[in-house]
Amino acid sequence: MRALTYHGTQDVRVDTVADPKIQDAQDIILRVTATAICGSDLHLYRGKMPALDEGDILGHEFMGIVEDVGSQVTAVRKGDRVVVPFVIACGDCFFCGRKLFSACETTNTGPGAIMNKKDARSGAALFGYTKLYGGIPGGQADYVRVPQANTGPMKVPDALTDAQVLFLSDILPTGYQAVINADVGPGQTLAIFGAGPVGLMAAACARMLGVERIFMIDHHDYRLAFAKEHYGIEPIHFDRVEDPAGFIIENTAHRGVDASIDAVGFEAKGSTIETVLTTLKLEGSSGQALRQCIAATRRGGVVSVPGVYAGFIHGFLFGDAFEKGLTFKMGQTHVQRLMPELLEMIGEGQLRPEIIISHQMTLEEAVRGYKIFDQKEDDCRKVVLTPGGPSTVVGEFAADTERTRSMDATAPV
Ligand code: NAD
Ligand code: ZN
Ligand code: ZN
Repeated sequence: MRALTYHGTQDVRVDTVADPKIQDAQDIILRVTATAICGSDLHLYRGKMPALDEGDILGHEFMGIVEDVGSQVTAVRKGDRVVVPFVIACGDCFFCGRKLFSACETTNTGPGAIMNKKDARSGAALFGYTKLYGGIPGGQADYVRVPQANTGPMKVPDALTDAQVLFLSDILPTGYQAVINADVGPGQTLAIFGAGPVGLMAAACARMLGVERIFMIDHHDYRLAFAKEHYGIEPIHFDRVEDPAGFIIENTAHRGVDASIDAVGFEAKGSTIETVLTTLKLEGSSGQALRQCIAATRRGGVVSVPGVYAGFIHGFLFGDAFEKGLTFKMGQTHVQRLMPELLEMIGEGQLRPEIIISHQMTLEEAVRGYKIFDQKEDDCRKVVLTPGGPSTVVGEFAADTERTRSMDATAPV
């Protein structure tokens, strides 16, 4: 089969590799019909995560048709059309029992990414995300092996297109969990740092839940303009407004927003010192977005962090967080917990995640997809790959269609 594989920093290729096979009684083999490139894949692409080998298959946002099932798989059958969560969870352990699926303590044979871990077990395995997370081959491929198929894959109705449901695998639940963690609703204010796919999904969910005012911070005009048009956010361009948190404080009666969402993570731009120190591995992460979140949030408010962090940050300003009495919530998304309700919201037309797709390509074109998503070229918001070839239609998605342009402020987000 063909698959997108890692060969080094900014070197991914579409190679011919062996087809996956059932290895465990709870595995399925999926024929992938649509798969997306995630901001988390960019951390790998940029060589920022260790434990990747040449030839590893990437990709953790995918869906398709069940081709083969292991002897103990009861939840799905051959021929079912399913979306697969990026988190691999057993459904039975201490954490799965508490619906903390990304903390599943049985699926990850790798060490995870905790530096001061002691003897604690690793959190869940993830598809296509290095040996730290179990070394499970990813889904940017013609076929993929899906372990724990009784807990992960969710059947989707034929009436919904691939484009409509694909993001249930990751970024839609991630944006939704970020907003739920932020604990905001009608009449409240929110700042979302990062207008990438995760930030956009958070904005869509915040609007759906009635959040009154949403500031959004980025330095790509085209992403901010899209978010303003579709989600009514108030854009802050951080190359022009030097201190977005200061601007937010001034515009919220000198209090700050009820909550902030950091949809950027450890590669945040804006601090030259931290960028240099992280490159030299003297610093684990850039704390720029996190510091801005702490500064922009009112006393007693919440900082919700879907953006990925790794290792330590010296400039964390924990004292400011203490003085303000902030609550922090963060982590990998418990995708399995949120998928069913989000599928319903898509079916009811309350959410239209597909409008953020800017590029649909075949798997063979994936190398260009990585490049333009990484470099933010060609106004790239989100790339969807169709391993089935150019004839595979993921459904109408383009945000620039007549239908989308004519959407009014009350239309679904
Ligand atoms: P992306 O790279 O497309 O978007 C990030 C955006 O942040 C970009 O538009 C960039 O310009 C902007 N940015 C950079 N520095 C900034 C700063 N200082 N202030 C404000 N904006 C800044 O990626 P994405 O797909 O939207 O993903 C965002 C983050 O979410 C990544 O870290 C990704 O790994 C993470 N993620 C986490 C989960 C989870 O389970 N928690 C799931 C999916 C993605
Ligand atoms: Zn992802
Ligand atoms: Zn478990």
